[in-house]
Order: sequence, then C-alpha cells, then structure tokens
Amino acid sequence: MNLTGKVALVTGASRGIGRAVAVELARLGATVFCTSTREGGCDATLTAIGEATNGEATSRSHALVCDVADQASVDAMAKAVTATGGGLDILVNNAGITKDGLFLRMSTEDFDQVVGTNLRGAFLVCRAFARPLAKSKAGRIVNIGSVVGLTGNAGQANYAASKAGLIGLTKSLAQELAGRGVTANVVAPGFIETDMTAGLSEDVKSAMLKQIPLARFGSAGDIAKTVGFLCSDAAGYLTGQTLVVDGGMTM
Ligand code: NAP
Repeated sequence: MNLTGKVALVTGASRGIGRAVAVELARLGATVFCTSTREGGCDATLTAIGEATNGEATSRSHALVCDVADQASVDAMAKAVTATGGGLDILVNNAGITKDGLFLRMSTEDFDQVVGTNLRGAFLVCRAFARPLAKSKAGRIVNIGSVVGLTGNAGQANYAASKAGLIGLTKSLAQELAGRGVTANVVAPGFIETDMTAGLSEDVKSAMLKQIPLARFGSAGDIAKTVGFLCSDAAGYLTGQTLVVDGGMTM
C-alpha cells in the first residue's frame, strides 16, 4: 500500500483513533491535514508522525483548527486545505463525541450536539470536499461509525442514531460519487481503548471483554490499519460498505 502523492484530511486527529489514522496515512506516504477544535491540539500528532517516519513526513503534515459542527469553521478549513494541498484525495471523517444518558432523560440539547457533530459534521465536511474528491478521480471517503450504529445501545440513543445515520449518508455518497471514481465506506469500531472509553467503569469493561471473541480491546492502530487499506488502491472496488472492526464482538 502506497499513498505517495495523495492528499488526506483526518478530522478529530488530536488523539485516539484520529491520531493513529493520521500517522498511518502519513507513514503510507500521504500529505496529511489533521484537525482539532483547539489551536495546538494536533501538535502531539505532528510529533507522532515525525517519529513514525524518522522525520520524513514532517514537512508534508499540517494541523488546522476546525469545529465540524460549525459551517463557517468547516468552510475556512476546506479553503486552507485546498489552498495548501491543491486538492483532496482522501477524507476521513473521524471527529466524534458521546453524551450518554438513558433515553427517558435525554435532553434535546444532548441529542442535537451528538448528531450535530457526528452526523451533520460529517455531512458538512463531505459536502465541502465533494468536488475536489471527484476531481481526484480515485477519491476516498472513510467515515468512522460504530458497531452501535448497527446494534443500538442502551444509554446511547443519540450516538447510535448518529452512527446509523452515517451509514445511510455514506451509502448515498457511494452511489452519487461512484461515477467520479470516488469510494465511500464506513469503518465501524467496537471497543477501542482511547479517551472516549477511558472513563468507563472496570465492571463495564470486564463485562464487555467477555463479549469479545478475540479477548482483547481494540487499539487505535487496529482501526488505522483498516482505514489505510480502504484508502489504498487495493480497495478500489470496495464502496458503500460498513467494515466492522470489533474483535468479533457483534458477528
Ligand atoms: P476521542 O479520543 O475522544 O477523540 C475525539 C476526537 O474528535 C478528538 O480529536 C476531538 O478533537 C475531535 N472532536 C470532537 N468534537 C469535535 C468537533 N466538534 N469538531 C471537530 N473535531 C472534534 O475519540 P476516539 O475514541 O478516538 O473516537 C474517534 C472516532 O471513533 C469517533 O467518531 C468515535 O465515535 C468513533 N468510535 C470510537 C470507539 C471507541 O471505542 N473509542 C468505538 C466506536 C467508534 P479536540 O478535542 O482536539 O477538538
């Protein structure tokens, strides 16, 4: 797999899965744009890219500030990417949040915030880059979903709805952009050890571990490898799919 000459964007690349994806795409040769909502939020990611490539990818790695839930912020980020990168070949919509709570007590605000970031945010970013990706002739969209978008999850009605919606959005994009050589797929992680899952109690974690046939939690690197494959020429005939990467948890 070789992404030399490709320009990639990873949203929410300051830590966790997004950071691992940015490092993997840079390691495979891509010019990578990383985003965070905070100034300096992707500094550690740029350092990690430098370390993983012995400094080779440092000059082709860039950090930008973007709140994917905010139209103006997405527009400004898209302008900066196309001005510096000259276009876009690979888009990874990874930015995501949770605001868990039982449905009967879930506030409209918590529902809107999660759907606004995870689903509407991905829509805004996809729309901002649809033309450059079509121009690329071999564009790649990878949206980071979740197994709960397929199964639902008690306490995560907002999150599960956003991730299920992402599958419908991705399949529609796959159909509309196929004629322009663009593929669009979802990677649906199971339980991955990141900040997002760090706060779960030991009881919840050990109950979840019992449901994973491969008997370990996933790492951000497990997801990054799958994303790297989907972005490569090797996956050129794969579109509109949801690849579940969960150690067998939901098979
Ligand atoms: P994480 O460690 O909490 O990182 C989330 C990332 O999203 C951060 O880089 C954060 O950036 C960014 N972000 C949050 N709100 C944003 C916004 N409004 N605009 C732009 N960026 C924003 O999460 P993670 O575990 O790596 O998860 C990454 C993705 O995988 C998410 O879509 C998540 O739903 C999905 N996923 C994770 C798991 C898991 O077990 N960890 C399982 C299934 C799916 P800043 O805070 O720096 O702004």
